[in-house]
Amino acid sequence: MPFSEVLDREELADLARRAANAAGSAVRRALDDRPQQLESLAPLLSPAAAEMLEALARASHESTVARFGKTIALFAPLYLSNECVCTCTYCGFSMGLDIKRRTLFPAEVENEARELAHRGMRNILLVSSEHPKRVPPQYVASCIEAAKRHAPYVGIEIAAAEEDDYRRFVVAGCDGVVLYQETYDVDVYKRHHLGGPKMRFGWRMDALERASKAGAKHLGIGALMGLSDWRFEALALVAHARYLERYCWRSQINVSLPRINPAAGGFVADHPIGDRDFVQMICFLRLALPTAGIVLSTRERPELRDKLTPLGVTVMSAGSSTEPGGYEQPGAAGEQFELEDTRTPDEVARRLRELGYDPVFKDWENMALERAAAR
Ligand code: SF4
Repeated sequence: MPFSEVLDREELADLARRAANAAGSAVRRALDDRPQQLESLAPLLSPAAAEMLEALARASHESTVARFGKTIALFAPLYLSNECVCTCTYCGFSMGLDIKRRTLFPAEVENEARELAHRGMRNILLVSSEHPKRVPPQYVASCIEAAKRHAPYVGIEIAAAEEDDYRRFVVAGCDGVVLYQETYDVDVYKRHHLGGPKMRFGWRMDALERASKAGAKHLGIGALMGLSDWRFEALALVAHARYLERYCWRSQINVSLPRINPAAGGFVADHPIGDRDFVQMICFLRLALPTAGIVLSTRERPELRDKLTPLGVTVMSAGSSTEPGGYEQPGAAGEQFELEDTRTPDEVARRLRELGYDPVFKDWENMALERAAAR
């Protein structure tokens, strides 16, 4: 049974409500005993747990170091296109917005990948808007091949695809598939996805299972923080990651929790999540998912990224551009959202070393192997 049929929204919403009222004794039990059941871990999301944030951060740090050591894998997104047939309330690429639109030719993708390689980046995530005519599967496969000539690790973050298309991407050299559900609350999802193929909630949710069957080595899930209650989304992310770990066990799972940033269209989040809650959520994810990678993007401020580094993060983007062609020709196309951390990959790497961490430019493979060895 796919995850879209397993997900029980009412049960998770009820658990989120109870977690918001959990007592300090339940938090201490969760910290001391590290139970497996989501119900027993949920108190770590409570205001009572926020009062014990230091203890939570310490436990999260120890768990991360025990599994992953002090390494942070660095990657850069490479945008293929911002032409989109979907209307998503929060996105700067949404159809109808007046921005400069562009889809790169595979040769231009190769130029971008070469430029990233010159900057030291060997782990590239190809990102695209949804446009069946401009960004068809054969085009994506060509772009993967072009990027692969300059990067040993190439992942994709594109529209949900058929299993056969994922197979084609894997044959072309795709190592991982990232697909954020944005929100696990189907009603909230409907309010924010107003047109285009992305409206299909269940089809999107089960895409990573298709990708894993097709041979993708890494799967990335995520929720766009700010669309719905953060406690609910945290619980849903853990439920989804655990499901994938169980049924897609050949693939390494990574979890992302991007916060909504300003974008064309001027969207304002209904449920903004503050820094302290964000820290608490990362600690909760780490303790609930000790073997999953946790990804932190350049949406966050440099000072906050530095502070979050020891808590549970294992993968970071660096030196990012969110516009197609943005590494070679910045400003030639509209960006998806504004970035907070504009440091170069070298500057991010230097700071990580100062913090006692090893930046890994090359791949996520070593981390997966390390994780397997730790089992
Ligand atoms: S979120 Fe994706 S599908 Fe929606 S408008 Fe933006 S690029 Fe298009």
